[in-house]
Amino acid sequence: MSTKRDYYEILGIAKSASQDEIKKAYRKVAMQYHPDRNPDNKEAEEKFKEAAEAYEVLSDTDKRAQYDRFGHAGLGGGRGGFNGGGMNMDDIFSNFGDIFGDDIFGSFFGGNRGGGGGGRRGRGTRGSNLRIKIRLTYEEIAKGANKKIKVKKYVPCHHCSGLGAKDKNAFQTCGTCGGSGQVRKVTQTFLGQMQTVTTCPTCHGEGQTITSKCGHCKGEGRVYGEEMVSIDIPAGVQEGMQLSMSGKGNAGERGGAPGDLLILIEEEPHPELQRDGLNVAYDLYISFPDAVFGTSVEVPTIDGKAKIKIPAGTQSGKIFRLKGKGFPSVNSYEKGDQLIHVNVWTPQQVSSEEKAFLEKIQSSENFKPNPEKSEKGFFEKVRDIFS
Ligand SMILES: [Zn+2]
Ligand SMILES: [Zn+2]
Repeated sequence: MSTKRDYYEILGIAKSASQDEIKKAYRKVAMQYHPDRNPDNKEAEEKFKEAAEAYEVLSDTDKRAQYDRFGHAGLGGGRGGFNGGGMNMDDIFSNFGDIFGDDIFGSFFGGNRGGGGGGRRGRGTRGSNLRIKIRLTYEEIAKGANKKIKVKKYVPCHHCSGLGAKDKNAFQTCGTCGGSGQVRKVTQTFLGQMQTVTTCPTCHGEGQTITSKCGHCKGEGRVYGEEMVSIDIPAGVQEGMQLSMSGKGNAGERGGAPGDLLILIEEEPHPELQRDGLNVAYDLYISFPDAVFGTSVEVPTIDGKAKIKIPAGTQSGKIFRLKGKGFPSVNSYEKGDQLIHVNVWTPQQVSSEEKAFLEKIQSSENFKPNPEKSEKGFFEKVRDIFS
């Protein structure tokens, strides 16, 4: 490997330069040696790469400190790929967005390079996103679900394979851009003459135009139809959440990339259970004798039925918790609980026999309310549940 030049020297700055000065200096050098301004100039390309490498190190506080202490040797060890003969051009261009922003520099550099992200060379126009709703039961949400849905949308025309042309001879090179898909424009800026590259307005960057259109899709390359889409829904989704399936939206025009399918989640209300975040609430009604003697009941859960024991002397308003019987979290291992709220049923009407019996026990000491101190009140229970 040849001896390396000092990074500060490359950018023409002092060792004490601020981050702002480093950035400015890099802009200047990068502009000067940019390959678009120095076509087929190996020396300029080397200088351009050298500057990018210097900037990469000096703009990073840690790397700069290492370099200041140990020089080039401090950056060895294979990290960063500097030893392998400098940076790759695509890396350099992909960093430009951060450094130059979206101003004139961005469009100048990004314009005609794949790595710069600006070159829109390719077929057709992208299809639009499509939005559908999917309604799920609590059971489906708890386990996750696979739904096969017939989606009405634009699909590629099978007569022309989505290209929009009658046959493969029905294309001709675009006369405006000569097939490159881009047109160059020279503008005057404060930095002097600049060349900007934009998508060709005639062929929209495709480089060719169609001379004879497909009769089935009228040259659009797509027709309105439907597709069966298999959608995997992860466990734990919630009402209002939106999932996205890349490429399952409307087909693009003339072979353009398809849009995305956006899936809005809706919850089917459960006849007995009520969702509250990850928890599930259930109102259990038991008879007065069952509350006195204790009993065992079956309750619905989002995962089948569960048997629970109601101890003797259970008060109305008591809340039992079935740990882990709630919803799973969609993005963690957390799981909610099922909360069972006990209601002791008060008869709405009684026979004369029952009435006589109730009157007999009405004044009995055991039937007078006598809550213990340890008995949690309503507000305390609510606090427990939401803490
Ligand atoms: Zn063109
Ligand atoms: Zn067609």
